[in-house]
Formats: sequence, C-alpha cells, structure tokens
Amino acid sequence: MRYIGAVYRPPSEAESLIIQATLGCSHNRCSFCGSYLNKPFLIRKIQDIKEDLAESAHMGPVRKIFLADGDALCIPQKRLVEVLELVNHYHPEVERIGIYGSAKDVLRKSVDDLRQLNRLKLGIVYLGVETGDESLLKKICKGADYGQLVEAAKKVKEANIALSVTILLGIGGIDGSIDHAKGTARILTDMDPDFVGALSVILVPGTPLHDEFSRGLFSLPDPFGLIEELRIMIAESSFSNCVFRSNHASNYLPVKATLPGDKKRILTAIEAVLSSKDPGKLRPEFLRAL
Ligand code: SF4
Repeated sequence: MRYIGAVYRPPSEAESLIIQATLGCSHNRCSFCGSYLNKPFLIRKIQDIKEDLAESAHMGPVRKIFLADGDALCIPQKRLVEVLELVNHYHPEVERIGIYGSAKDVLRKSVDDLRQLNRLKLGIVYLGVETGDESLLKKICKGADYGQLVEAAKKVKEANIALSVTILLGIGGIDGSIDHAKGTARILTDMDPDFVGALSVILVPGTPLHDEFSRGLFSLPDPFGLIEELRIMIAESSFSNCVFRSNHASNYLPVKATLPGDKKRILTAIEAVLSSKDPGKLRPEFLRAL
C-alpha cells in the first residue's frame, strides 16, 4: 500500500485498513494542531483511490476501513458516494467504514445524503469538538460554533451513523480551565454522542498555540489540573449511552466507562487519584505522545 505523508487515525481504528481519500485537512487552522502543517490539502483522484483499493483487495478480507486524511467527509457528495461504492466493490466483506469530518463538512450534507452514505456502510463519523466553551472555540479557530457542532451531531445521529467526538483536556489553559470543562460537559450533553475520546493538549512546535506558549500567553494546567477537567466533564454531563475513553497516549490517566452506567464508579476512581496527588498513579511523561 502506498501512503502519502504521515497518516493519522482514531485509536479505535487501529485494526482497520486505511485508505487515503484526501490528503491533509481542508480546514487546517485549529491553533493546537500540527498534524498537517506541511501537507497541502487535496482530494485524491478517483483512479489513485481505486488503485489502492485494488491492491488492498489482494491482501485479504477486512472488517473495518478508515478513510483518511483529516476530514475526508468534506469530499462532495457525488464523489464520496463514488469512493464508497469502490470500497464496497473491492471489499464487499467490509462491515464498517469510518471517516473524520468537521461540523461544517456534516452541515454541507443533508440527512438524506448522510443516509445514502450509511447505506454504503459509512458507520461512524469522528468529529473534533475539543471544547464546549463558545469563546474558546473561536480562539482556537475550530471553524464551528457551539450551535453548529450540536446541529452536526443531530444530523449524523438522525442518519443512523455512530458519532464519536474528541475533546481536548488543557485547551483552555490554566485561566480557562474550569470554563472549558463546564462548557464541554454542556456540549457533550447536547450532542449526546455514542463515543467520546478525551485527549490532552501536547504543544506542537510550529502551531499558533505553541507560539502563544513560547510568548508566555498560554500555560497548561498541571497533570492533576487536567484530570480535574476530566472529572468535571464526566460529573456534569449526561448521556443516553456513551462509551467515554481517555485511553489516548496523550493522557495522564486512562479511563474507560460506559455512561451513564459507570458514572459513579469512574468518578470515585478519578477522585481517588486527585486526592492522592500521587504522580506514581499517572502515565509517565516519556510514554505520552500524540
Ligand atoms: S484538529 Fe482536525 S480539523 Fe483541526 S486542523 Fe487538525 S485535522 Fe484539521
């Protein structure tokens, strides 16, 4: 398989076949994100995608396929349908196709468009939310406001597609930490996703956030401050049925809970770590990464 540049995928797609339908990210402006800084955005030619799929078909059956790069859901509907038809042609055995998409990518499609993608086995959309704090969403250039994020979530769910969102511990800095945590609990409740993945900010050189940090305009909460954000987000949110994970390698404290069922258990465990203030209970710094 040929891959162009660094390829990122959600942790839950670790065993999926990855097919690059786009390169880079059509937004590429989030202040903390260095994933595609040096990778100009483009929608790959259908012939190139077809050749990759044909090659992968010789490698044996696959259960899950993930369409990279950063927001392949931005591909216009007609072309995306073509891509999914090709995926189904070369891998008729595939059970689920996943994709990253921004709120605006979702909002450009109708619920019927999304249903059409779902019939072609698009089974999960990964949406970066990062925070529910309105002013912070603007500050980090997320490209969508609170209302647009909630509307996008509703559309995805209405089309019967699973919704997985990421949130970013520490993105409010020390000063905005509590507002960030509370706002995020609020937006998670309003979006009611099927999956939440919490990541922690890692400052990446070359990003506007790193630049702010270097100029003394941004400071990250300490590890226990980040875990306190996690506690607030879980304590103050409510879900119908959500798998909430913070097992990404960037986090100091990995948790996995099905909410609301595990809420009490997980909060007790987090509170025990917070009151111990024992660094030995945290993932060591050298094991943390993006
Ligand atoms: S966080 Fe996602 S949407 Fe934002 S620049 Fe990075 S890849 Fe693009």
